[in-house]
Amino acid sequence: MQRLHFKPLHELLQLIFPDVCCHCGEPLVGDERHLCTHCLAQIPWARHAFFPGNEVEQRLVGRIPCQAGAALLLFRQGNIAQTIVHQIKYEGNLAMAKQYGRLLGAELQSSGRFSDIDCLVPVPLHRRRKRQRGYNQSELLCEAMAEIMHRPVVTDNLYRQRYTDTQTHKDRQARMDNMKEVFAVRHPEYFENKHILLVDDIITTGATTENCYHALCAVPNLRISIASLAVTSS
Ligand SMILES: [Zn+2]
Repeated sequence: MQRLHFKPLHELLQLIFPDVCCHCGEPLVGDERHLCTHCLAQIPWARHAFFPGNEVEQRLVGRIPCQAGAALLLFRQGNIAQTIVHQIKYEGNLAMAKQYGRLLGAELQSSGRFSDIDCLVPVPLHRRRKRQRGYNQSELLCEAMAEIMHRPVVTDNLYRQRYTDTQTHKDRQARMDNMKEVFAVRHPEYFENKHILLVDDIITTGATTENCYHALCAVPNLRISIASLAVTSS
């Protein structure tokens, strides 16, 4: 009797529930993961790390004495950068956080403008929000960046001391009001004389970054650089 040939379980599941591109919804084929080849080709890379005076630095000028700033992606409503940020921030897509964190780390590293960073500091979530979500997306990015940049990730020194409403639908002034004294530093002496890289998932108005700086400026002789997965772009 001829033996039946069973396909591996994964292949069978693929036939019933094919993986689809998380941006366009088309079925993924071959080695494609998360995004199809067509969407991958349209990723809006910012290439900021190599260019002083880029969009991130311009947005923070006069507000934060930032040594260097860069984002990996340019975020516009409906574009692939929005999908990538959403996957990492709300869908718990750890593989994507790792992949794009490493890419950001590699770009900063090869630019040479971030070479004297002492440590990576993720923008903290309030512990209640972190418990709800199960992770801090900026921390995931930092861990992946650190694999490339070979710097420690410091997660417990800058912290969120006040729980705030979601920022998504607020204008700039409302965001600033919402963020006053939200952040604090537990041990300022730990950051003294250091150059830290503050890492966020997305920079919109820059209010979150600015408020982290307000907490950090109590630290003597601290230098700050800024990196984010994406920055909103006009
Ligand atoms: Zn696609």
